[in-house]
Amino acid sequence: MSAVKIDLYSDTSTMPTPAMRSYMCEAEVGDEQKMEDPTVNALQAHVAELTGKEAALFMPSGTMCNQIAIAVHCGPGDLILLDRTAHPLISESGGAAVLASATMYPIDGEDGQFTPEQVAQIIEPPTRYKPTFRLVSIEQTTNKPGGKIWDLDQIRAVADVARERGANLHMDGARLLNAVVATGIPASDYSEPFDSVWIDLSKGLGAPVGGVLAGSQDFIDQAWQWKQRIGGAMRQAGIVAAAGLYALQHHVERMAEDHANAKRLAEGISGAPGIEIDPTDVETNMVRFDIVGLGMASSEFVDALIEQHGVRVSAPGPTFVRAIPHLGISEADIDEAVDAIRNLTTKLSEAA
Ligand SMILES: *Cc1c(COP(=O)(O)O)cnc(C)c1O
Repeated sequence: MSAVKIDLYSDTSTMPTPAMRSYMCEAEVGDEQKMEDPTVNALQAHVAELTGKEAALFMPSGTMCNQIAIAVHCGPGDLILLDRTAHPLISESGGAAVLASATMYPIDGEDGQFTPEQVAQIIEPPTRYKPTFRLVSIEQTTNKPGGKIWDLDQIRAVADVARERGANLHMDGARLLNAVVATGIPASDYSEPFDSVWIDLSKGLGAPVGGVLAGSQDFIDQAWQWKQRIGGAMRQAGIVAAAGLYALQHHVERMAEDHANAKRLAEGISGAPGIEIDPTDVETNMVRFDIVGLGMASSEFVDALIEQHGVRVSAPGPTFVRAIPHLGISEADIDEAVDAIRNLTTKLSEAA
């Protein structure tokens, strides 16, 4: 395979910056499990404060944040409502069924977002035939549908319905801070309706590893037990937590650049032959476009773009292509990627 020059595959493609690496080198560390790692403790306090929750817990991954939250909230047979594109449903190897023996019910939302009416329709009337309605999980921002922001009023309306019927609320906030940067609404406002919320450190924030799960002290105490149980408890984890702490201090505001670059990319390729894209669909850092007009599979398009131009994007659907700018990507890279995509689509449509 040819060398990748511009990697727009994901916001997980970031490399730790030199400044982040030196901050990591100098981090004070201790035994995390004994609460003796000052850097882990500082990271957890930071995220608890940011999300307005009592406590927080550093995890090796975002997936573990989701899985442990689900395991704390749900028991065998319990019902979890989430969008059909939600990460725990499509990208976590069925963990909710394995670890919590819970039932996941996919809601057919729009752009990964659903309505209080949809929630009510599924759970009513509650009968002894139905699984116990225990949890509603939402993704902020929505990953598969392309970085869409849940509106705070819609979140509150969904939460009200869920709560009235006795369910808990979980937010997969892998990219919550992208929504915060885009809207100016504080993370604590978005988090307020939820019993549990987490943020990913290894997406747009640019840290190499980890997520931080937040909730009430009681919730976090139970999460600690699960973390111990499934082998997620670490030792001198401050060395990696430092990267997250550094990112939260230095990489939040700059995500606005990723959003601007996403917009620039979308506008740049809009109108290219065979491509369907509406630049106003870009709400945060993700660009999604349809290449149906080129008459080829998106996976072939992705391969050709790397082969011929060294630009890497992904193929989240049969004719869908996704590109995600991040802290390793400059405006000049975006312009080069635009030229590459235009060049390739022109060539492909002339050949067709
Ligand atoms: C990336 C992601 C996860 C999982 O996080 P990891 O740190 O990769 O385990 C969960 N939910 C969403 C929406 C994500 O984008």
